[in-house]
Amino acid sequence: MPDNVGYTATRTPVNHTELMLTEAQFLQEAGVGLWLQAPLTAVQAREDRILTCEFATPAGPWRVTPQVVVDTSGDAVVAHLAQSAFQPDSADACQPVSLLFKLAGVDFRPLMDYARRHPEEFRPGSVFPDAADEHVNLWGYTSLLQQGHRDGRLKLLRNEMHIAGWLPRGELVVNVTRHASEGRPDAEQTGDAWLALCRQVMAFAGWFRQSVPGCARAYVAAIGNQVGVRESRRVQGHYTLTQRDVKQGACFDDSIACGGFPVDIHSSLEPGLSHTDAVVRGFEIAYRSLLPLTPHNLLVAGRCLSSDHAANGSLRITATCFATSEAAGVAAALAVGRGCLPAQLLPAAALRERLLQRGAIISLDSACA
Ligand SMILES: Cc1cc2nc3c(=O)[nH]c(=O)nc-3n(C[C@H](O)[C@H](O)[C@H](O)COP(=O)(O)OP(=O)(O)OC[C@H]3O[C@@H](n4cnc5c(N)ncnc54)[C@H](O)[C@@H]3O)c2cc1C
Repeated sequence: MPDNVGYTATRTPVNHTELMLTEAQFLQEAGVGLWLQAPLTAVQAREDRILTCEFATPAGPWRVTPQVVVDTSGDAVVAHLAQSAFQPDSADACQPVSLLFKLAGVDFRPLMDYARRHPEEFRPGSVFPDAADEHVNLWGYTSLLQQGHRDGRLKLLRNEMHIAGWLPRGELVVNVTRHASEGRPDAEQTGDAWLALCRQVMAFAGWFRQSVPGCARAYVAAIGNQVGVRESRRVQGHYTLTQRDVKQGACFDDSIACGGFPVDIHSSLEPGLSHTDAVVRGFEIAYRSLLPLTPHNLLVAGRCLSSDHAANGSLRITATCFATSEAAGVAAALAVGRGCLPAQLLPAAALRERLLQRGAIISLDSACA
């Protein structure tokens, strides 16, 4: 659907539960073996190569001996355990964590009437669809949020929130909670964040019922299944994607994916976002950004790939993470097939060809075609 907030060109509403069920079907149809409740906990490396990966399964530790490893753990867990180098600013410049929640039982008529009567409360450029539309995005509620804080009902001061509504279903997905993060994931910090965020969800749900028109009978129908981490470790790779690359629409001979989302950086200290810079032309992502300096048989993809803080604010978005992860998977298969290391695929002509055959968008030219 067109993004009526004007932030991006389009948004893709999803029913999260059916999406999860569909993904399970895709995995089965593709013959993917799934290990559940089996986090990777240890890596043994020698001479800059990963020899074994160990998983903590309910039956005890399981060890595998991989030729090539793809790390899409978000937090770069494999790279961390294998002592890869990380971007120097990872720890002190990190976005806050959040927990999204879904409210059901929303009456959209008063909710939309309020938005139309108070356009100053919302992001400039917002277009308010009428209640006959199926979906709506709203970004704002500035004075209602500030009032909730002044009244003491909301401990967290926010001056904006994003809500995505599915009108015929009476459902709203709300992005407003936040908790500061140091970017060094550990079990205790994640546990503390989870408890703080759950408390915030309850406080915001109560505030919605009392203060947001159309929400008097709303209830929490779903929450994210884990703490939502926007940013943590970012590896240091053979190329680091920079803010300049993202802003200027960089192109690379070894490009394996494209991005185009605005640089979207939430602040841990301020009640809003610290950056919402437009990315006018889009940008390419080099295969070298998926290659950590060491170990040599590791690829990283998703939000932990080699990028600076600002560039990460754009490439961390789901579609771009899908694209870089697909490229890393195809590269790993090619490297295993050839019996070579991932870096030996450079300048990446065969990889790019394989991605194009799969319908991937790997250059700005094809993205604009
Ligand atoms: C609050 C919030 C709102 C967002 N809103 C949007 C949005 O509206 N649109 C959008 O496109 N993007 C959005 N994003 C961004 C996007 O969801 C993430 O950046 C993206 O999912 C990152 O993908 P990833 O695959 O790199 O990491 P993740 O999605 O974090 O996936 C990593 C996976 O690895 C698993 N894992 C971690 N460690 C281990 C281990 N040791 N062993 C085994 N498995 C492990 C994790 O459980 C997880 O399943 C949002 C993010 C947040 C936090």
